[in-house]
Amino acid sequence: MAKADLMDYDKALELFEPVLGFEVHVELNTKTKMFCGCANEFGSGANTNTCPTCLGLPGGLPQVNRQAIESSIRLGLALGCEIAETSRFARKNYFYPDTAKNFQTSQYDEPIAFNGQLTIELESGRQVTVDIERAHMEDDAGKLTHMGGAAGRIQGADYSLVDYNRGGVPLVEIVTQMIEGAEADAPEIGKTYVAAIREIVKALGVSNARMEEGNVRCDANVSLRPRGSNILGTRTETKNVNSLRSVERAVRYEIQRQAALLTAGGTITQETRHWHEDTGVTSAGRPKSDADDYRYFPEPDLVPVAPSRAWVEELRATLPEPPAARRKRLQADWGFVNLEFQDVVNSDLLDVMEATIAAGAPAQAARKWWTGEVARLANAAGISADTLVTPAQVAALIELITDGTLTDRLARQVLEGVIAGEGTPSEVVASRGLAVVSDDGALIAAIDDALASQPDVLAKIRDGKVQAAGAVIGAVMKAMRGQADAARVRELVLERAGTAEPGSAD
Ligand SMILES: [Zn+2]
Repeated sequence: MAKADLMDYDKALELFEPVLGFEVHVELNTKTKMFCGCANEFGSGANTNTCPTCLGLPGGLPQVNRQAIESSIRLGLALGCEIAETSRFARKNYFYPDTAKNFQTSQYDEPIAFNGQLTIELESGRQVTVDIERAHMEDDAGKLTHMGGAAGRIQGADYSLVDYNRGGVPLVEIVTQMIEGAEADAPEIGKTYVAAIREIVKALGVSNARMEEGNVRCDANVSLRPRGSNILGTRTETKNVNSLRSVERAVRYEIQRQAALLTAGGTITQETRHWHEDTGVTSAGRPKSDADDYRYFPEPDLVPVAPSRAWVEELRATLPEPPAARRKRLQADWGFVNLEFQDVVNSDLLDVMEATIAAGAPAQAARKWWTGEVARLANAAGISADTLVTPAQVAALIELITDGTLTDRLARQVLEGVIAGEGTPSEVVASRGLAVVSDDGALIAAIDDALASQPDVLAKIRDGKVQAAGAVIGAVMKAMRGQADAARVRELVLERAGTAEPGSAD
């Protein structure tokens, strides 16, 4: 549907109540795959991380990855789920070229974790509790790359390449219950929920949680119920939305599209849909089958997973502080207003900020450097700020400013030296000779030179026109190549011009 044909968002909300549901796939960062010993690695040469088991060759036998079970249980616990006494893998049968086995090994009626809850907070302060139906384990499919067509899509492609490196990588799929009462917040709820999941798996350390690499992917279910009706509408499932902003946009788009279609007398097809990042629309995928069509049956080559209660409790004790609680605590500790704190959160700098402050830096100074100069240089280099410098280096830099060794301007040069690998901030200060000139003798010599060459300025200062001193201060700073404290230079200029206020000179 062209954007012009969509129904106005507010109008759509007047006529319909959106009902949501999300399926989030989290790729676990185990060393090896879910059922074989192949490396679980992003970016290896195509089809190098494969073996008979993950390629579905005759004779290949799966074995469960213990680390993947452990990560799944910890994730389930962090989502407030119950952990099953016994849980089983099942074959989900379907043919697609990215799945060499002809089935996905998943869980069906006996998931490892179920009945959870996650409370999220929207920007307005509204709290929404999302009920989690289940979190189950499964393996990922390979990756198809369509060649020769436009925008890498299968339509119009000449041929497709398949890479099975991702085939068999462990996933946890987190499925919500139906979310009602979202109202106009529906798109924000989608974005915030996925952000919260991402934050949790990152805090647990069970996933690299990089959405751009597909570590966290979201399928968004949207349906509309006419106001005053208690009959649910037909839902669509927009697949593999892989950025937070896209989740928000895709939900909003589906609400506007379905409202326009329903109001015009059309019907919604139960189907999967594709999200197009570039144009901001969804398009029809395949009709969505009911579960029956997959002919699920218990995986005969794997025994049930029956985690002992003692092990579950052991794992519960390893859970980190919930990210939402941690954010509240840090904001209070640092004394940041919402805007300042959001800036840090949005830039994904909580961890490095915490470490920098633990290394002795004042919170505001740490924020200023991480979200300012470091972020700027990281953007320019196209990498994340925390890979550019360490919290200890930033803390050391701030210390040099606080003790008067560096001005902000000099500190920026030192930072460049640190990033260039020239050593610690102190080492760069020494090797580049960047410290502030704090020797009054050198400053006075430069001031006397400047005053002598600008007798008219000297006369003005002596006449009480103190603002004329600016020209001399500028000349001295230039002579010192910026390595002087301007406030101290000003003091000395007035003193040398003989107009220092009583008591301010020693
Ligand atoms: Zn393998």
